[in-house]
Amino acid sequence: MDAAQHTAGTATNKGSPDSRPPDSASQLVRARTHVGDFELTICTDGPYRLDGGAMFGVVPKILWQKRAPADEDNRILLGLNTAVVRTGSQTVLIETGIGNKQSEKMRQIHCNHELLPASLAAAGISPQEVDVVINTHLHFDHCGWNTTLHPDGSVTPTFPNARYFAHRGEVEHGRLQLDRDRVSYLSPNYDPLIESGQMTLLTTEGIRANPEIVPGVSVELFPGHTAQLMAVHIQSCSQHACYISDLIPTAAHLEPTWVMGYDLDPLSSIRERKRFYQRAIPENWLVLFTHDHLTPMARIGVNEKGKPAVIATE
Ligand SMILES: [Zn+2]
Repeated sequence: MDAAQHTAGTATNKGSPDSRPPDSASQLVRARTHVGDFELTICTDGPYRLDGGAMFGVVPKILWQKRAPADEDNRILLGLNTAVVRTGSQTVLIETGIGNKQSEKMRQIHCNHELLPASLAAAGISPQEVDVVINTHLHFDHCGWNTTLHPDGSVTPTFPNARYFAHRGEVEHGRLQLDRDRVSYLSPNYDPLIESGQMTLLTTEGIRANPEIVPGVSVELFPGHTAQLMAVHIQSCSQHACYISDLIPTAAHLEPTWVMGYDLDPLSSIRERKRFYQRAIPENWLVLFTHDHLTPMARIGVNEKGKPAVIATE
């Protein structure tokens, strides 16, 4: 299924805050396309819901609800998109959803479905073939399936043959367990991988010196949501896609000032969004949205009001 078919096929869902689990393989695989010679597949850990007010920060509901309708509890439909890049020699996974370590209470709040293993299977991607996992940051909804929780309480790597990559600053921030965001950092998602040596911790200096994780896949810092938020660039044969993560979580967040209440430094997010558009728009990048269940990818242009807007969904 390509992105255009995906969009057409789900257009009738647009505007509905329905977050029932997908019930067919076509819904489990959110989009599929090529970036140059690379195959790009968008898998999902399933739809989930978060408070619309938190997702749009200081933006009045009367404005955001036109783009993201809220349910009776003010929650909006979101996605948990994992990008899978097959370069020809490597299989790279970007983000691993919420995973299966949520408490029953948190599962009820978020209505999440733990679907990434089924989604990968529907796309024909085995956990064993994954060579690289990249976490743009270590919030619980981006690295949950890094590891799998078993009934006996043990935790094992979900992708046994993979090298995992995250920013060292994210780990250090999570370990501070600050009042503001300690609930977002669940150490079983990364500490076992750090202890076993399976996770490489990147530094800002190291990324500046060599941003490439594998040939054609590189990372770049876009601080604001967290201090070390990384985007992932995917480049092949002059084609360019970018997984922009929580800098721009959904296609409804393209307006530079519509930043999330979760962002630790909203002024940096606004500045970094503008910096992103300076390249993404003229170079016609394919932008991959981490939390947009219905529009997982889009090309961005400028509308008649001079604002960034979706111009194509493939
Ligand atoms: Zn986040």
